[in-house]
Amino acid sequence: MTTPPPVQEALKSIPRVSLLDRPTPLRRLHRIEAVLGTGHGVGIYVKRDDNGELAGGGNKLRKLEFLLGDALSQHAKSILTVGGLQSNHARLTAAACVRLGLHCELFLGRAVARFDHDYEQSGNILLDKLLGARLHMLPAGTDPFAAALERARQLEADGSRAYVIPSGGSTPLGSLGYVECAIEIASQERDLALQFDAIYVPNGSSGTHAGLAAGFHALGRSNTLVRSFSVLAERDTTMRRTHELAEGALHLLGLPASMPFESVDVDGSQRGAAYGAATDSMKAAVHLVAAEEALFLDPVYSGKAFAGMLADIANGRYRRGQNVLFVMTGGTPGLYAYRSEFIS
Ligand SMILES: *Cc1c(COP(=O)(O)O)cnc(C)c1O
Repeated sequence: MTTPPPVQEALKSIPRVSLLDRPTPLRRLHRIEAVLGTGHGVGIYVKRDDNGELAGGGNKLRKLEFLLGDALSQHAKSILTVGGLQSNHARLTAAACVRLGLHCELFLGRAVARFDHDYEQSGNILLDKLLGARLHMLPAGTDPFAAALERARQLEADGSRAYVIPSGGSTPLGSLGYVECAIEIASQERDLALQFDAIYVPNGSSGTHAGLAAGFHALGRSNTLVRSFSVLAERDTTMRRTHELAEGALHLLGLPASMPFESVDVDGSQRGAAYGAATDSMKAAVHLVAAEEALFLDPVYSGKAFAGMLADIANGRYRRGQNVLFVMTGGTPGLYAYRSEFIS
């Protein structure tokens, strides 16, 4: 018997709830490899973190397992969180609250300049309403987090314990969900008898990249490259935030928390004009992955990151025989909100 690595032991001591079946499936994209041409010979795999049993699934569930574990240990009755109108994090928080019997309020701001019917009424908004969350649609210029804190004070004054989750669930505690995902990937690598040369993720509020980077660091796998494409902030801001969260996650686990800043690989080339703005390469990636693999990327996060990975491969970043993994993070409801970008 081998002893589990210290990071695995440290994770066990943190309160949590269970919101997804694991391991999430991992498979190879043979048809896309074929389309890219035999000259490349790079193995392309996806991990289906978008494929959860609860409300469609998505990367936010791994973070919510720890965040809501903390909320329950504090005896919270209400969960408040924030996001843009089409926030996947808001939808999955509402879904998790249904599962756990908690009251949920969502504070949704105008993060994206889209005002058509699909954006305002369909996609995640429709699902939030079906899930029975209380929605606060805030006018432009209102800070959703400040509004949530104010409401929490009100609930507390009425004698109901409230727990506020910041944007995207990206706190050091939430990032532990992806520390655990790194351990899961390492175990799937052993089953496949390979080690990925790079692991790709989209980067919004940074907890996903940070958790994976911290996890591989804690496993002594600092040579495993986690590479993300920033879709929200500028590259430098995103790098700093990712680094800070990764060190915060290691610190929470009581593990050595010094990670070289330069080891945080964030690329800013796929964001386009703004957060949530459609780009041609995102649209091409969404079409390609649907038409060749029957998998759905989303327009805001994974479509842009997948486009970035395709550009890396086309630019000859990898040699024949190397393998890359793309973590599918969810967000399919966003396709309905962005319908007009894909069909007229
Ligand atoms: C939130 C989100 C991301 C980004 O994850 P972060 O941890 O916020 O960087 C990626 N993909 C989808 C579908 C998301 O909803």
